[in-house]
Amino acid sequence: MNQRRIRVALLGATGSIGRSTLDVIKAHSDRFELVGITANSNSSQLAEIATQFGVRTAILTASNGRELVDRSRFPKNCEVLFGQDAVEHLASSPDVDIVVSAIVGAAGLRGSLAAVGAGKRLAIANKETMVIAGATVRKLAQKTGAELLPVDSEHSAIFQAIKSGREKEVCRVILTASGGPFRDFPKEQMDQITPAMALKHPTWKMGPKITVDSATMMNKALEIIEARWLFDLKAGQIEAVIHPQSIIHSLVEFCDGSVIAQLSPPDMKLPIQYALSYPERLDGTSPRLDLTTRMSLELIPPDIEKFPAIPLGLEVAERGGSSGVVVNAANEVAVDAFLNGKLSFSQIVPACRAMLDHHEFISEPTYEEITSLDDWAREETIKWMHLCC
Ligand code: NAD
Ligand code: MG
Repeated sequence: MNQRRIRVALLGATGSIGRSTLDVIKAHSDRFELVGITANSNSSQLAEIATQFGVRTAILTASNGRELVDRSRFPKNCEVLFGQDAVEHLASSPDVDIVVSAIVGAAGLRGSLAAVGAGKRLAIANKETMVIAGATVRKLAQKTGAELLPVDSEHSAIFQAIKSGREKEVCRVILTASGGPFRDFPKEQMDQITPAMALKHPTWKMGPKITVDSATMMNKALEIIEARWLFDLKAGQIEAVIHPQSIIHSLVEFCDGSVIAQLSPPDMKLPIQYALSYPERLDGTSPRLDLTTRMSLELIPPDIEKFPAIPLGLEVAERGGSSGVVVNAANEVAVDAFLNGKLSFSQIVPACRAMLDHHEFISEPTYEEITSLDDWAREETIKWMHLCC
């Protein structure tokens, strides 16, 4: 019997997660149909994807999108749209079944919220959505029936492992972290780290922002907060452990002491595919574990003095409310400044700490309060950088 293909909108199609999602859709073109794509400014790559997949809607979000676009490179029957309103429209369209949220940073929030508001399945790579607005997203999903499917490899692992018991039997979740390129780097030399050094991740190939986040371990901080909201956990139930091989993607401990983990080689196609096909598992497109050769899997407690991002993430998960908004905004500004040679590596986490400590806490921020706090934290971080550097 012919099944209707599942219609996918891919927000952030030109990025690292976007490209891996395209590979999954191509490998399972009998199951999935790409109907809409977005990019910030890479018009030529967007046109290539639109042509290759016969996409009906393509959106450029950059404010100068109209100037960047060469309409002749897009297929004739593909509508080319501009701006964040168009992204919201696509993410909530009745012609879309699954929205993959793969934009980087707080810029991904509007599309994610539109998809959840319209009751879609949201495949969440954009962890910032849950960091900034986890409580709002959960509440909205309960109202609309939207499904939240994690794409982040750690959260996909938890999502898979947690099904081994009942919700109330979960004792703790342990997120693994590769430790990034500076796991064994001397603490006293951390302020000499250059963007080129930070952009070399030992096990994952990702976009520049998350690669720097992995180096500072802010990525793990953001993932701790993401896990708190995705799985409705208490901060005290979440831990992080260093696992340099990036094969064990996370672990869940149940009340009887059983620990269930998910393992696979580091490749984002697997969690992306699972988020698209769940509850079904489809044939894999990623490499498999080779268990015929000797392999070591290490688990090492994190050095929280060298990587203060981890306690910061736990504190934000504990405090909830507006804490995630300001820490995320500060991190985005600080990472951008670091990549542009305007801030030292070792000042990124202190910038986030300063915004957490100085902001006026709101326990249940509205969408308007979230956006104005985000603006506030961006401006304050710039001022903080001028004062401290
Ligand atoms: P990337 O930088 O490679 O791609 C980002 C995408 O977002 C691009 O398509 C870009 O055009 C778009 N974009 C950038 N700025 C935008 C803006 N202001 N408005 C609208 N669109 C914008 O990033 P990535 O590595 O693919 O990461 C995407 C998201 O997935 C991030 O939230 C990241 O934390 C998360 N994630 C990534 C990986 C990974 O392996 N890359 C793993 C887990 C989670
Ligand atoms: Mg991750």
